[in-house]
Amino acid sequence: MPAFDPLPLLRPNIRSLKPYRSARDDFKTGILLDANENPFPAELHPEAQLNRYPDPHYDALRDRLSTLKGVQPSQIFLGNGSDEAIDILIRMFCEPGKDAIVITPPTYGMYRVSADIQDVRVKEAPLNPDFSLDAASVIEAAACAKLVFLCSPNNPTANRLDSGQLREVLSAAQCVVVVDEAYIDFSAGESALRWLGEFPNLVVMQTLSKAWGLAGIRLGMAFASETIISYMMRVKPPYNVNTLTQQAALRVLAEPERISALVKQLLQERARLAVALAKFPAVYKVEPSDANFLLVRVKDALSWYKTLAAENVIVRYRGDQLHCADGLRITVGSPEENEALLKAFQKLSAEIQQPSS
Ligand SMILES: *Cc1c(COP(=O)(O)O)cnc(C)c1O
Repeated sequence: MPAFDPLPLLRPNIRSLKPYRSARDDFKTGILLDANENPFPAELHPEAQLNRYPDPHYDALRDRLSTLKGVQPSQIFLGNGSDEAIDILIRMFCEPGKDAIVITPPTYGMYRVSADIQDVRVKEAPLNPDFSLDAASVIEAAACAKLVFLCSPNNPTANRLDSGQLREVLSAAQCVVVVDEAYIDFSAGESALRWLGEFPNLVVMQTLSKAWGLAGIRLGMAFASETIISYMMRVKPPYNVNTLTQQAALRVLAEPERISALVKQLLQERARLAVALAKFPAVYKVEPSDANFLLVRVKDALSWYKTLAAENVIVRYRGDQLHCADGLRITVGSPEENEALLKAFQKLSAEIQQPSS
C-alpha cells in the first residue's frame, strides 16, 4: 500500500498554528500560582478541586482509555461530545468557501450542520436502498474532498457497514476517512480501531453518550494516528473537557463489566421489541439493528408519530429521509418504557381497526 500522508491535507494556517500554551502545559504539580485560580475550593464538591482548571491533556482518562481500547494515549483525543470532534476535524482540514466533505445519506445530521457552519461544501454519496455503502461512489466523491464521514452502525438506519467496503474506501480515498462508531458497543461487528496502525488516514470516533450511559457529561473520543491527534489537540479549546466530566468518566470506565451487563440487557430488549412490533398489522418492516434503536416501517408513519406523542410516547419520525419511507426511529428503552410503547401501539392499532365515531 502506498504510504498516505494526511499532513498536506491540513489547512496551511493550521499546519503553522502556534497553539495556546496554558499554565498546565508547563507544570501540573507544585504550589500552583501560575493560573490565576482561586485557592479556596467552592462549597460544592470541595474534594473535586473545582477551583482549579481541569487537566487540558486529560492524562488519567487517556491512560485508562489506552488500556481499554488498546491504543496509545497519544492516539486519543477527547472532546465535549463527538460533536466537538466532528467540528474540529472539519475546521482543521477544510478551507471555508472552498473545500468539501463527503457524507452518505441517510446519516447523522451533525456532519452537514458542522460543515454548513464552516461554509464547507457537502457532497453526497448516498447509501444503497438496502443501506449498504456504495463504495465506488464514495471513492469518486472523495476525489475532491478533504474528509469522508462514514457512520457504522449508521444512524438512523441501524445497520453496520461492511468491513471489506470500509477498507476499500480507506485504501482508495486520498483523504481522511472518519468512521463514527457511536453505536459500536451494541453491534455484532468489530471496531475499525484495529486498523489504526494500517491506515494513517483513519479517524475512529466513539462516545460515552450511548452504551456507557453518560450523554449528560458530554465526552466524545477520537482515535487516529499520533499526527492527526496532535493537531486536534492544538486546535481544541485548552480546557474542553471539564473536571466533573473527567471524574465521572473515570469512575464509570473503571467498571466495564457493569456496562457490558447493561448492554446485554438492552440487546435482549431490542430483540423482544423487534418481535413484538413486527406483529402489529400496520408495521410492515422492522429493519435489522446493530444499535440501541430500531428503524420501524409503519403505514402512515407521520400520523403514528403524532398519535404516539399524544399518548406520551415520543419516537423520532424519519420517513422524510432518503430510503427511509414510513420510518420511525425508536430507541430501545427500559423494560417499563418499552412496555409503555407496546401498550400505546396496541391501543392505536385497535383504534385503526375499529375507528370510533
Ligand atoms: C449519538 C451520536 C453521536 C454522539 O454524539 P455525542 O456528541 O458524543 O453525544 C455521534 N454520532 C452519531 C452517529 C450519533 O448517533
